[in-house]
Amino acid sequence: MKIIFWGATDQVTGSKTFVELPEGRILIDCGLVQGPENAEEQNLENLPFKPSDIKAIILTHAHLDHSGYLPRLVKKGFNGPIYCTPATAKLVKIILVDSAKLSEEEFYSQQDVMLTDSLIKPVNWHQKISILGAQFELIPAGHIIGASSVILKSDDKKIIFSGDLGRFDDPLLPPPELCHDGSLIIMESTYGGKYRTGDYHKDLHTFIATVVNDSRVGIIASFAVARAQMLMSLIFDFFQRHPEYKVRVVLDSPMMKEASKIYKQFSALTKNQHLVVSAMEEFDVLEHEREWESLQKKSGPLIIISSSGMLTGGRIKRHLANWQNDNKAILFLPGYQGEGTPGRAFLEGDRTISLNEEENIQWSGEVWGSEAFSSHADQGELIHWLESVDKTRSICLLHGEAVAKMELKKKLNDLGYKNVFIPFKGESKLI
Ligand SMILES: [Zn+2]
Repeated sequence: MKIIFWGATDQVTGSKTFVELPEGRILIDCGLVQGPENAEEQNLENLPFKPSDIKAIILTHAHLDHSGYLPRLVKKGFNGPIYCTPATAKLVKIILVDSAKLSEEEFYSQQDVMLTDSLIKPVNWHQKISILGAQFELIPAGHIIGASSVILKSDDKKIIFSGDLGRFDDPLLPPPELCHDGSLIIMESTYGGKYRTGDYHKDLHTFIATVVNDSRVGIIASFAVARAQMLMSLIFDFFQRHPEYKVRVVLDSPMMKEASKIYKQFSALTKNQHLVVSAMEEFDVLEHEREWESLQKKSGPLIIISSSGMLTGGRIKRHLANWQNDNKAILFLPGYQGEGTPGRAFLEGDRTISLNEEENIQWSGEVWGSEAFSSHADQGELIHWLESVDKTRSICLLHGEAVAKMELKKKLNDLGYKNVFIPFKGESKLI
């Protein structure tokens, strides 16, 4: 097998890795670049192969940085099968429908998304699927519902793609299945340089208690898929344990509502089915303009969960605009804030964000961040995931800022893994 590294080599997003199998070329993940200033330019760049020369795609999970380029590839001529788990198939559709709304019509349209959806072939974890003279299998990766790692076998060679790996103590999801031994391990390293800090129970408790005790407005910027459902479940659970802190929680994101339905449908994949189902049914969702008009006049205590999680767009901005002069309001960012995003700038002290072409928002409230809610394995967990892998194997690090990859490489080298490499875009490897 020959692997050609393309996306997520020099950044965290835009995942795309080509593999030449005995009977054709496939792509593992097909993500959009998100965050950097030249993201749009990078997303318009041609791939090294014609889309019609790619025979199949294996999708690890639904996040846009792994799936968001699919409709573009379909628009440009890809028409092979797209394999993923049933939960990923459902989630990716709502993510792509939303992405088409936000992108230029020429980049891709709703029709391209529908065509993409028609190519999706759901496969279950541990089901062995033949693919172009080779075989693959998806195994659970934690992270978000339906997320998988991929084991790809051809003759006596075996490649394992981690996809995005979840944590081993995720509030909702079971831990990732440990990496199988293989000829080459391609692993993510988003949190390769650090150990997660903070405690999500404590951070959430402090946030809710502050909102309630001081009658404040608390706005949570959340990714609509997965993070929102984790927060809803944790908040619901917290209210059950501490009814004295029960406060109105409003969700404002159409995609969040759709994703919650899918979490409810696939709640058997979580650690606490009853909790997830109850939480998904519990909270108010803003539906009509009239409800928004009445909400704008409210003061605390009130909690709003809206997206996008890194403040790059979405309805969160209307809440920031509405409460921008309330210096008691709290903006809570319980997610990873990518380099170059307004969320990262807010955390670093730059509190101005554009509302539209004419107007800026100048946020005068507080900004709280927390890394405790991360759905990525941290350095210790990434190392733990590799436990059963022979130390002589080749390990390739993707999906991380340069520093994170260097730190993980150094750590793995210190632990005795001698063949750790960080590929550059366009680099190929034969195994
Ligand atoms: Zn992800």
